[in-house]
Amino acid sequence: MSNSVAPRIESANKEYASKFEKINIGPAPTHHVLVLTCMDARLDVFRMLGRQIDEADVICNGGGRVHDALRSIICSLQLLETREIILIHHTDCGFTHVNEEELRSKIRKNMNHVADYLALMSFTDVKQSVLDDIHLLKNEPLVMNVPITGYVYHTEVEKLGRIQQ
Ligand SMILES: [Zn+2]
Repeated sequence: MSNSVAPRIESANKEYASKFEKINIGPAPTHHVLVLTCMDARLDVFRMLGRQIDEADVICNGGGRVHDALRSIICSLQLLETREIILIHHTDCGFTHVNEEELRSKIRKNMNHVADYLALMSFTDVKQSVLDDIHLLKNEPLVMNVPITGYVYHTEVEKLGRIQQ
């Protein structure tokens, strides 16, 4: 495919790897923290949180939803000594601009496939979605009892707003 980004990624990586300085870090996040947020291309997660790459596990998915991330969260807590969870949803999220039926109808049209069994997890109230996902984490038996802090990231001003539980 001529418009593929892959060749540019490969080229950029060659340059990156040529300047790479090997530091002795393992897979576990040194600050024992996991950040779950949206896959939105505007979110530069490490920079917006003032973190370095070795400090946090970062999971990005559509909307930053817990259901989608549970396997990774459980593994991070069990295997990588993560002991705190930061949950960030954001304003102007693509998942607030569509509803479940619109998404399902797109899949039907584009893929000729019925995806009614799939929870696409769109939402309308970003603060409520943070509270719902914190509730889910706190009530999931496989998630350790660790501090969980929820935020709404205000995309238009790049500021975090803490959600009081
Ligand atoms: Zn989003």
